[in-house]
Amino acid sequence: MARYTDASCRLCRREGDKLFLKGERCYSNKCAITRRPYAPGQHGQQKKKISEYGLQLREKQKARRFYGVLETQFRKYYEMAVRKSGITGENLLQILETRLDNVVYRMGLGTSRTEARQLVTHGHFLVNGNRVDIPSYLIKQGDEIVVAENSRKSPRFKEILEVTGGKVVPKWLEFNEETLSGKVVALPEREDVDLPVQEHLIVELYSK
Ligand code: SF4
Repeated sequence: MARYTDASCRLCRREGDKLFLKGERCYSNKCAITRRPYAPGQHGQQKKKISEYGLQLREKQKARRFYGVLETQFRKYYEMAVRKSGITGENLLQILETRLDNVVYRMGLGTSRTEARQLVTHGHFLVNGNRVDIPSYLIKQGDEIVVAENSRKSPRFKEILEVTGGKVVPKWLEFNEETLSGKVVALPEREDVDLPVQEHLIVELYSK
């Protein structure tokens, strides 16, 4: 499986926004975008006029990197969003938000989406009683997600909850810290997605 392996903080600095790719560090004063709030590279501090295409591209890259999705998969999500009824940009964000790795992260069972993805890949979760180890698996309303029985005693979840405990779970999800289980009570609406992105620019980019 292809994945991005370069320094995560460079991605935030490139997009000029916190993408929360490194868990606890993102909330500390070690966050690179707080210390160096300009694009990486030799010309990062130069002010450049950005074209309309450039703006659209940046919004797409920001969304893609926030969810840790590669280009081919991201375009597939766009095509799915076009086929659904409703507003394409909002459909796209809803699809991204309902990836299993994101749901696990939103429930606080990973300090970052990267960690949540790794835990999913390692088979620590059941969806409606069946083990699912595919991070891109799209959950549906009513789905129940639970940490597998033999993973519950793992010290890793205790450590994660020490970091994420008290995190506000979005209203479209329920989470029980005692049983390490959660439920998708509704599908996320646009207002539930905290990504500072103008999704209509992504739609404009892909619909050229
Ligand atoms: Fe982004 Fe987190 Fe790095 Fe800050 S610490 S730049 S939010 S990945």
